[in-house]
Amino acid sequence: MSECLFCRIAKGELPVPFLHEDEEVVAFADIHPQAPVHVLLIPRRHVATVAEIGTEDETLMDRLTRAANRIAREKGIDRSGYRLVVNCNAEGGQTVFHLHMHLLGGRSMQWPPG
Ligand code: 5GP
Ligand code: ZN
Repeated sequence: MSECLFCRIAKGELPVPFLHEDEEVVAFADIHPQAPVHVLLIPRRHVATVAEIGTEDETLMDRLTRAANRIAREKGIDRSGYRLVVNCNAEGGQTVFHLHMHLLGGRSMQWPPG
């Protein structure tokens, strides 16, 4: 899976600064930010979509969420509010097929999403 863009980012093969990294999770700024804070959180391990989360990934979404919460606190948006988004497959709006969680904040979000 070395051709996967987010695997390459996670391996440090591309010049992308990390906002957080631990054994399982890496976070970095989205290249096309949709809000003043727009961070992507990914597992180091390649999982294509959230639909493919398996029993071996039992704590993965929890780890992504806690890393997102920590970045939200660091960015000072934890009290004002933020949105965590995981798009899945074509109609879910997924364009990069390595699981990622979006952390969006720093402005008022709309509902329903587009
Ligand atoms: P999706 O639409 O799959 O949920 O989100 C993919 C996200 O990855 C998009 O918000 C897009 O801007 C971001 N993205 C795509 N390519 C790159 C890249 O090379 N670097 C970074 N930092 N973000 C990227
Ligand atoms: Zn990958």
